[in-house]
Amino acid sequence: MVRKIGHYIGGRQVPGAAARTVASFNPATGEQSGEVALASAAEVRAAVEAAKAAAPDWAETTPLRRARILNRFLHILEERIDELAAVITAEHGKVLSDAKGEIQRGMEVVEFATAAPQLLKSEMTENVGTKVDSHALRQPLGVVAGITPFNFPAMVPMWMFPVALACGNTFILKPSERDPSAALLLAEWLTEAGLPAGVFNVVQGDKEAVDAILTDPDIEAVSFVGSTPIARYIYQTATAAGKRCQALGGAKNHMIVMPDADMDQAVDALMGAAYGSAGERCMAISVAVPVGEATADALVEKLVPRIQALKVGPGTDPEAEMGPLVTRAHRDKVENYIDQGVAEGAELVVDGRNLRLQGYEDGYFTGATLFDRVTTDMTIYKEEIFGPVLSVVRAESYEQAAGWINAHEYGNGTAIFTRDGDAAREFAHRIKVGMVGVNVPIPVPMAFHSFGGWKASLFGDHHMHGPEGVRFYTRLKTITTRWPTGIRAGAEFAMPTMK
Ligand code: NAD
Repeated sequence: MVRKIGHYIGGRQVPGAAARTVASFNPATGEQSGEVALASAAEVRAAVEAAKAAAPDWAETTPLRRARILNRFLHILEERIDELAAVITAEHGKVLSDAKGEIQRGMEVVEFATAAPQLLKSEMTENVGTKVDSHALRQPLGVVAGITPFNFPAMVPMWMFPVALACGNTFILKPSERDPSAALLLAEWLTEAGLPAGVFNVVQGDKEAVDAILTDPDIEAVSFVGSTPIARYIYQTATAAGKRCQALGGAKNHMIVMPDADMDQAVDALMGAAYGSAGERCMAISVAVPVGEATADALVEKLVPRIQALKVGPGTDPEAEMGPLVTRAHRDKVENYIDQGVAEGAELVVDGRNLRLQGYEDGYFTGATLFDRVTTDMTIYKEEIFGPVLSVVRAESYEQAAGWINAHEYGNGTAIFTRDGDAAREFAHRIKVGMVGVNVPIPVPMAFHSFGGWKASLFGDHHMHGPEGVRFYTRLKTITTRWPTGIRAGAEFAMPTMK
């Protein structure tokens, strides 16, 4: 049965008014499951009107009251995590345990945001001058928007809106048209938790909706997560329209394996980091860099049987460790990269192409794939594949390995596996990447820290959630106060200086 998937505006579900729609699919079966409305500029405008109308009251709602609503939302998420995970798996394809994992990481941001009264406390200095005091305020921006990718349909929106709402903004979410349903469930549950109508809105859509957001004069800030070409476009367009913007892009995350690393631990780490969620994670490790031939041989030898034993299946199968890719087109793109790697001379050690699962012949499955002897001039090294493909690039030295990471276009995440504290410290200090792991393959910062990469992995000045999120979603105001007795001395005409 094909479900019609519409928007959420002004506290209720709204069917799509525009003629344009796009199909959504169950990636495990290849069957169409939904027909997603693609918002026109007029529908985006309706959401902006709703958010704008709700903004003054929400901004005046005390941080403690906002936090209480987020607290109720958190409890609803806890109680209904299975329901949300099932919705994610049905549209994205990831295994249920992984879907629950992303919800858990999103809930941690909600938890962080429930500290709104504490987060919005600010600085005060008594006597910046004689009998003159200064204090700082962080005030909401107004209407803000989030544009999110397919790979984390619950977590990435939750990197954004809990903090934005806690800070007193109203929000418009434009989720990925490939897995649009999780956003609607989140909207329903926010309303149930007591969020006033219009404070959180969802518009489904594609470029037309995005462009309407980027140029709408009433939207103050745009948060984006997705691929680098689109992130660059979003940043340039939004900032040209005078908006605050944080736009997170793609990644090519390297993991250095030093000769002294615990090889079993490194292999375990690589299995999850390369193939979890079928490699469709911006923090996935897609390049392993063993240092020295002996390290490389040992690594590949241990990886191969593990990869061959990896259980691929529909996300609903509790035994499955890896599900399908998100769409047929994406599966074909990933398999084309594997063809290209072979053509460019990389050694294909495990080939995941043309995997057909019994009973799921039309699903978008690609098996876990391993390339060895990849070189830095190859396309499969330079570009983000975003699938279950791990490339081993053999380095002669630590210097060479670190040099490659620093020279790469992307700088989202990276890791080093070693027992040597000095090597680890040097790596953490010198590497030009936003999130660094030491014997931790996927160093995603917790909610109370901030998430973001460097170089082509982030355009803008602020990372997401944590203290950076609070700064992004608020405007700083500094107030300097002198009470009337100070005026008795009379007016001054020289440049004011602190006395
Ligand atoms: P995408 O860039 O195709 O889409 C992201 C969003 O942009 C979607 O909402 C989509 O509708 C919209 N969009 C797509 N094309 C557009 C266009 N031409 N104009 C305006 N808007 C457009 O990304 P995706 O395929 O959904 O997600 C995967 C990508 O996201 C990968 O590159 C991955 O690395 C990246 N990602 C990055 C992070 C991070 O934190 N840096 C996190 C998750 C995903």
